[in-house]
Amino acid sequence: MAKEYDVAILGGGTGGYVAAIRASQLGLKVAIIEKGDLGGTCLHRGCIPSKALLRSAEVFKQTTEADQFGVETENTKLNFFKVQERKQKIVDQLHRGVQGLMKKGKIDVFEGHGRILGPSIFSPTAGTISVEMNNGEENEMILPKNVIVATGSKPRSLPGLEIDGELVMSSDEALNMESLPKSILVVGGGVIGIEWASMLADFGVEVTVLEYMDQILPTEDDDVAKEAEKLLKKKGIQFVTGAKVDAETLNTENGVLIKADLNGEEKTFEAERMLVSVGRAPIVDNIGLENTDIQVENGAIKVKKTLQTKESHIYAIGDVIGGMQLAHVASHEGISAVEHIANNNPEPINYNHIASCIYSNPEIASIGLTEKQASEQGFDVKVGKFPFQAVGKALVHGESEGFVKIITNKDNEDLLGVHMIGPHVTDMISEAGLAMVLDATAWEIGETIHPHPTLSEVVGEAALAVEGKQIHG
Ligand code: NAD
Repeated sequence: MAKEYDVAILGGGTGGYVAAIRASQLGLKVAIIEKGDLGGTCLHRGCIPSKALLRSAEVFKQTTEADQFGVETENTKLNFFKVQERKQKIVDQLHRGVQGLMKKGKIDVFEGHGRILGPSIFSPTAGTISVEMNNGEENEMILPKNVIVATGSKPRSLPGLEIDGELVMSSDEALNMESLPKSILVVGGGVIGIEWASMLADFGVEVTVLEYMDQILPTEDDDVAKEAEKLLKKKGIQFVTGAKVDAETLNTENGVLIKADLNGEEKTFEAERMLVSVGRAPIVDNIGLENTDIQVENGAIKVKKTLQTKESHIYAIGDVIGGMQLAHVASHEGISAVEHIANNNPEPINYNHIASCIYSNPEIASIGLTEKQASEQGFDVKVGKFPFQAVGKALVHGESEGFVKIITNKDNEDLLGVHMIGPHVTDMISEAGLAMVLDATAWEIGETIHPHPTLSEVVGEAALAVEGKQIHG
């Protein structure tokens, strides 16, 4: 017997389950279809488990260096089994939390693989969804008035480079390593590559990063990317940029070997294991898109500002639409899609006002345009920069490397971009986010009295530095 819903959501990741909660709050009858675990990539194979491992790496590194704080530790040892156990406990706790939220919202969860079958007389607008149930029972039929596709993304590889899950891993397998390798090659120096390189180096692994572009973190502001490279090198990470990796790997007695073309010169790199982090591909296959008019462009579902696809009762959100592949983007797109379904006329999302964060050590956070992008877009820019070195609390923390850089429009004082590298910047970027949403100027940030001593003083000082009015530098 087919079941009728106001909204059916295909995929229970951060985008899908948040959309389900908002739909339930708005009084809509909601179904969510998930073949794996509620919480999706972010909770089970991404943000949360990787940040748990990064935190263990940070604690390990700090403990081995505790001497400088007057704390003498001897024989600091890493128990990687316990590291993994702690990570899993956190994931499990949050997973139970999401399951509880579905119950609280009276959201029907279908555990299985959903496919859109196309319009039917029962569901002429959004189309019927057939769910192949994980428990092997007969397929469930769902008749929704609206559908939200939130199927996420999966790790990409390079053509010809096979991820075997053992020697050559994506982040999915790396998260579940039972033991640490002595050495690792990281192919791709983007967000995932740099978080893993930082974590593994802090755990004591020998790390080499092979990046295709001339700079690691090519989408970050140049000054930040350079500072990141400098600080991460201090941990012993080796960076090879401009590396055109030959996809063919060779398994050797000691691990894995790969060749790369460096400006016409072929070089060989070898390590115990390899992590491939060259981006993530939207999941658009096997979900019935061929039964719809939905357009796929460059591998991602094409949507309008309202997040509607070409079929106006089918929305798509999160990694599957490409763009900023971030959990907080997916969840806000989910909310926006549901508010649109409920005829609440949500404001289209302003992607320029969304911060992105990298949880390496040091952390990196940014919002808005880089200096280069601002100049390319024709803005006459003014820049304020302030180092953590001049902030008392950063010295107290023993983490005084990095800076905050604020880019403004010389003509009208608008904030164009804020870029940070240093301690706890992923928590501090939200001040810049709020400033941008409220259309504040750098002067107004500078006039805001930041408590002393705090790390946040660096933001106030960088804002004052736009007019050369910083106090401590
Ligand atoms: P990415 O796009 O951030 O980085 C991929 C890197 O691989 C780029 O620097 C690219 O130049 C490089 N590359 C591509 N082909 C290559 C080749 N043949 N040889 C060497 N290098 C090559 O992708 P990612 O790091 O895999 O992350 C995927 C997505 O997940 C991103 O959108 C990212 O923002 C998101 N993510 C976010 C977080 C976070 O918010 N902290 C964490 C993890 C992932």
